[in-house]
Amino acid sequence: MDDSDRCPCLSGETYGACCGPLHRGARTAATAEALMRSRYSAFAVGDARYLLATWHPSTRPSSLELDPDQVWRRLDVLATRAGGPFDDAGEVEFAASFRDASTGERGRLHEVSRFVRDGGTWFYVDGDVGP
Ligand SMILES: [Zn+2]
Repeated sequence: MDDSDRCPCLSGETYGACCGPLHRGARTAATAEALMRSRYSAFAVGDARYLLATWHPSTRPSSLELDPDQVWRRLDVLATRAGGPFDDAGEVEFAASFRDASTGERGRLHEVSRFVRDGGTWFYVDGDVGP
């Protein structure tokens, strides 16, 4: 993905002005929503290393295998609770749409994700997947 491409999180910004610098470690997410968006974008660009790095150590899996056939097509942030620059925890409810590149099947993930800010850095903790 080029910095001038539209960011996969559909913020309306370019990748270079949105999730790109987070993926490269040039800066960290200021809010839980920004971290959630950057993690969605990491799924979209296949950056498992970033997904593991932003997973809280208390719940982080030892490894992560991304399905290369899963093409992430759309993110809708539905609601946020806390998760601001002065909070230590937050929740983000979102819907993410994907398509399976080999079968053409479409799917939608609806999740409420929980985040904590630890040592000034936001981490993903876990989430409840809804209908
Ligand atoms: Zn983005």
